[in-house]
Amino acid sequence: MKPTQDRPVFRFAPSPNGYLHLGHALSAFENQMRARVAGGRLLLRIEDIDQARATAALEAALIEDLDWLGILFETPVFRQSEHFADYQAMLDRLIAMGLAYPAFLTRGEVRRLVAAHEAEGRSWPRDPDGAPLYPATDRLRGEGERRALLASGKRHAWRFDMAAAVARVGRPLSWREERDGRVVDIPADPEAWGDVVLSRSDAPSSYHLSVVTDDAAQAVTHVVRGLDLYHATAIHRLLQELLGLDAPVYHHHRLILGPDGRKLSKSNGDTALRQLRAEGRSRADIRVLCGI
Ligand code: GLU
Repeated sequence: MKPTQDRPVFRFAPSPNGYLHLGHALSAFENQMRARVAGGRLLLRIEDIDQARATAALEAALIEDLDWLGILFETPVFRQSEHFADYQAMLDRLIAMGLAYPAFLTRGEVRRLVAAHEAEGRSWPRDPDGAPLYPATDRLRGEGERRALLASGKRHAWRFDMAAAVARVGRPLSWREERDGRVVDIPADPEAWGDVVLSRSDAPSSYHLSVVTDDAAQAVTHVVRGLDLYHATAIHRLLQELLGLDAPVYHHHRLILGPDGRKLSKSNGDTALRQLRAEGRSRADIRVLCGI
């Protein structure tokens, strides 16, 4: 076997805000198989920045489920909640580069703005997931107004100034995607997402910022995850480029859909691994249910 530092690094990165379901099992199996074929290492990252929803009990359940599936990870397990200072440092760099701004609009205010606009028969741009792009209101505030709002202690998130970030890089970006045993270049279109959140008002980071920070910190070389995150990879590439982080190779695998044709979610309780286990299903049954 190659020395540790030369081995490819894979990671499975679930969020412990519900029980693992069949979709997670497929992702964990995909990581396990690909790591095995590549002679790579397999890490577990607990994506628990959402401290209101992630609980120690759910994390313990998650590890128990993975154990039952026979998926072995290196220890210690990496917990995002233990790395908030690292995300803050990345955010500070983006702020210093003039690429992040404080965003004060509440969800309700955004909803009302979009609804008022659409009521006039005008369409509002939407991201690849169908969510309305964040309005320009906060980006266009003057420095004085921004400072006064911050000084008043008003609740705010930090958002990415997408147009400025893309202009800063100044050239088209792409990511490497493993597909049918080959690596292909996929053009990245981060602007389709608008000014995404970098740090939430209720959590000192966001998915996008922490995922690129941690993939680099853990020296991940292969990101294997579901197709639901395919288009978001464009944001990750842009952040990697601006922050000088190495870009892994990506593989986005098929999703397991629920009876409603949508991606499985925590509310599809009947596909929860512990429920299936309680019904007497075996690990081999789970593989079959995952279609592998
Ligand atoms: N934590 C994310 C999820 O559970 C996965 C993030 C990733 O693999 O990049 O959907």
